Amino acid sequence: MAPTPAHSALTALKGQIPLIGLTGGIGSGKSLAAKCLAELGATVIDSDQIAHDITAPHGAAIAPILDRFGPDLLAADGSLDRPKMRRLVFNDPSALQSLEAITHPLIQAETARQAMAAYQNGALYLVFMVPLLVESGYWPQVIDHLVVVDCPPELQIVRVMQRSNLDRSEIEQIMRKQASREDRLAAADTILLNDGSLDKLIPQIDALHQWITKNRSKPSNSA
Ligand code: ADP
Repeated sequence: MAPTPAHSALTALKGQIPLIGLTGGIGSGKSLAAKCLAELGATVIDSDQIAHDITAPHGAAIAPILDRFGPDLLAADGSLDRPKMRRLVFNDPSALQSLEAITHPLIQAETARQAMAAYQNGALYLVFMVPLLVESGYWPQVIDHLVVVDCPPELQIVRVMQRSNLDRSEIEQIMRKQASREDRLAAADTILLNDGSLDKLIPQIDALHQWITKNRSKPSNSA
């Protein structure tokens, strides 16, 4: 398949600026790690936020979603009715495929736009925060270095229950749809072990930031 303009734009940045992937299972602490890296000077591009923006009222995905799924899948304010869509795609692979055929190219294009703008504005390095990075056929080719935030599955469940109104079985269902802990760890270049307090995470993030910024001027394949 021919590379998309978004893919070409991102791969053109390779060697110009470090392209770091950041992933982890639900509740592992990705958002927290991304926030800490941003405080140190990283530019974080959040694919969940982009997915949210394109499905907000008048977002770029709304018209094609309306065409494919009809008005039932939209909330009263014109945004995507997320809980309804989640229920629809959970057990219907063809609906999921249709939804992803609409959203993925839009997310990739917006990611590339943000990445290019950050590069042109002198960003130190780019962190792509992508929940399903390991599962995707796209991201592993784009990034130079994969950071996985890891913690025991039980801790993921406890954290998500505290953060949201999902119950244990709903969280376990989501986790079963994600890559296994073993597969994520096997794909990692750097593992941030987030199984304790913030005080345990911060030094790992500091060391990662130091390493990325020190290697910044080298070509990406020499790291
Ligand atoms: P993810 O983005 O991977 O789903 P989050 O970063 O949102 O996970 O973390 C899940 C929840 O757990 C959040 O409420 C976050 O503040 C909390 N959390 C994560 N890591 C820690 C930690 N080391 N200490 C305290 N709370 C944490």
